[in-house]
Parts: sequence; C-alpha cells; structure tokens
Amino acid sequence: MRSTIAACAILVLLSGTADAEECPPGALGVNRTLVVDPNEHSRVGSMQYPETLPLNDHEVVLTFDDGPVPRYTNGVLETLASECVKATFFMVGQMARAYPWMARRVYDEGHTVANHTQNHPIRKMSTDQAAREIEGGFASLREAIGDPQAVSPFFRAPGLLRQKSVEQYLAAHGDMIWSADFLADDWTRINNTEVARRAISRIETRGKGILLLHDIHLRTVLALPEILNELKSRGYKIVHVVPAAADRPKTATSAQEWVARSTLEQHTSPSQMHPPRQGISRRHGQEPKPK
Ligand SMILES: [Zn+2]
Repeated sequence: MRSTIAACAILVLLSGTADAEECPPGALGVNRTLVVDPNEHSRVGSMQYPETLPLNDHEVVLTFDDGPVPRYTNGVLETLASECVKATFFMVGQMARAYPWMARRVYDEGHTVANHTQNHPIRKMSTDQAAREIEGGFASLREAIGDPQAVSPFFRAPGLLRQKSVEQYLAAHGDMIWSADFLADDWTRINNTEVARRAISRIETRGKGILLLHDIHLRTVLALPEILNELKSRGYKIVHVVPAAADRPKTATSAQEWVARSTLEQHTSPSQMHPPRQGISRRHGQEPKPK
C-alpha cells in the first residue's frame, strides 16, 4: 500500500515536472487527440469532400505540407513547441530522403508524419504512376525515420489535385486522403502579416477545421507565432490527429459529426497552389523574398 502511494506520488511529481518543462505558462497546448480510422472515413476536408474531421466549434487542426527543410521546418517546430501544440506534417519523400534528421525531429517531437508523394508531381497520373508516387513517399518517410510504425496512413495530394487514380489507390490500401477546410495562401507572394490575417479570417468564417500551411516558406515561419497567438486570444483549441491502431482505439464519433458544411468563402482555388516544381535545390534555394 505504502509503496503504491509512493509510486503514485513519484508519477505525479514526474508528470508535473515534465509539463512544467515542456509547456510555458499560458501556452496554447493540445486540447485533445482525435484518433481516426481511415477505413471508415477515407476522405476529409470540406474544400473538396463531403466529409471533414469531426471537430467541435473553435477546434483547429494544423497541417504543414512540402517539407521537411531545415531552413524553415526547424522554425515551425520551435514555434509549435513554444505553444505545446502538435501538427500533421505532409512530407515529400525526396525531402525526407535529403533531410532524414528533420523527418526524425518532427516525429520525435510528437507530431504526426504523413505522406505528400515522393516527388510532388502536379499533373495527372496513371494508376501505376500514382502507386509509385504514393508508395515511394511512404517508403522514404519510413526509411528516414527508421520505424515503419512512425508514419501515419494519411496522404495529401500535391496542389490538392483530385485524381481518380490516386483516390482509388488510397482507398484500396486503407489510406486516408486529406484535403483542407481553409488555406492561408502562404505559397503566394504575400507577406507574413497577410498570411496570418487570411488564416484567422477564414478560421473565423468556418469556426473550426483543418488549416493548410507550408513549412518551406519564410513567411509561414514568421506568420505562425501570430496565428497561434490570435487563436489563443480568440478562444480556439488545437486538436492533434492520429490514426487508430491495435493499442489505440478510434475516438467515438457519430456519422453526422463528419458531415462537412460547404465552404462559403474561398479566395484561392486549390489548383492555383503550385509550390516550386524544379525539385529540391529550387525549393529552398530561390525562395521569393516576402514583401
Ligand atoms: Zn504540396
């Protein structure tokens, strides 16, 4: 009995210390972890699909595409850590191969690692090409991190391009395709203040949802502290999304909670979303300077 009490006291002490070390007072923090089963809900994001994540009002899911790249992903991770929030990173396979330590850092810091193809093609793909891009992406991420279990079965299409070949392949393999509920146009030549303004105003319009950002732009790194501060001051909560597993049952939800309301206001079409196409050297070598 006494040893049980002592063990509990130590546990409380340890967890208290860990929290104090990791989370500064007043940090935004993760409100809850949402565990989803891709086999039940294989396509999410109201921008393109009839379903989206079953979030409560004032809950936001943060996602970052196109990295990892040390020059920008490190800054994003530092801001996320300073607010104790977790995000989902849709990584490009060739980027993870070029910077495997960055992919590991994202994973080690507790974020969800997801697939954004091997080479980020923004074009129509045959079923064979789609299979190569999807499986190549998953393989690169698993290899970079060194643990097959570390990579979620979550996938986002480059440029949010909808393709039957991709959607059919993913559905047949139990993978979940993510669109988004709102963008912040952070791949366009706007400055970081404008990125933050668009993110917040679109989140306010819907009241909840999945925000799509890119961890390959300076303006995004600079906008993120402002976005998180605004979310905090407006009473928003961050939700971390992870896939269901044998030891991690899905969060109980009703079918109705997954039904997406239509997006009333969308200023930029997803098909306009073109990150640099010329591969890794161009991606972080010739970033346009934010105005
Ligand atoms: Zn992308």
